[in-house]
Amino acid sequence: MMTDHRIAIGGHLSTSDGFRAMGEVAHAMDATTFAFFTRNPRGGTAKAIDPDDARALQAFMAEHGFSRLVAHAPYTMNLCSDKPETREFARRVLSEDLQRMELLPGNYYNFHPGSHVGQGTDEGIRLIVEALDDALFDGCSTTVLLETMAGKGTEVGRTFEELARIIEGTCRSDALGVCLDTCHVWDGGYDIAGDLDGVLDEFDRTVGLERLKALHLNDSKNPRGAHKDRHERIGDGCIGLDAFQRVVTHPALRDLPMILETPGGIEGYAAEIALLRGLAGEA
Ligand code: FE
Ligand code: FE
Ligand code: ZN
Repeated sequence: MMTDHRIAIGGHLSTSDGFRAMGEVAHAMDATTFAFFTRNPRGGTAKAIDPDDARALQAFMAEHGFSRLVAHAPYTMNLCSDKPETREFARRVLSEDLQRMELLPGNYYNFHPGSHVGQGTDEGIRLIVEALDDALFDGCSTTVLLETMAGKGTEVGRTFEELARIIEGTCRSDALGVCLDTCHVWDGGYDIAGDLDGVLDEFDRTVGLERLKALHLNDSKNPRGAHKDRHERIGDGCIGLDAFQRVVTHPALRDLPMILETPGGIEGYAAEIALLRGLAGEA
């Protein structure tokens, strides 16, 4: 099967050489989107964004038919921590990052909802909703994506219901969507390998498919429901290649930006992009 359709796919890239440089790295691996951390993933420091460099990336993306980017918040941003100072830090990061994203208007900003650290899911959801209502502003051009989580420890966002409760709880739900991570939902217990349609039906009933804005494509080192969150290269894990072919050709998914977060670096991404474009039926 050959199609004209090209999937929007890319990897998670380093910002160390700037924005336009990421576009070039992406293009060289035949990517048409990519992800990057808005700041040090394990710390908090944010390098100032050079507006000229941001504009240069936008021009490069337009020229080469890129889809929307999927920026990633730092892992240390826990909006529902039990420690007030950690929550304060997280709220500041979220708010600053959304302001900074306006230099690259109209893209996606993905974050891990957080870990409630024993306070319970209800309190976790309440704190996340409060933080989103606080940080989102009128005229914000970024769509903020909640990432589906594997359910490691006290992570909020393992079930579609929890994500729906966060989205429905905010006054800013127009600016919110979901990024589905294939490893995370699998580890969370959803059978995307055996019953992709069933999982998407459940997503539609709880969150609504119109909220699904991006995918993280990762195989998993562990069996379904393991709650481990260990990414594997596409086809080398427990989800398997056939499932990824169904993902990249599914009518509800094939138009979404797809981000690889697999081990193997730049060469790994290039090989997986070629593999997945082949599975999608591209020439
Ligand atoms: Fe993530
Ligand atoms: Fe992810
Ligand atoms: Zn993960």
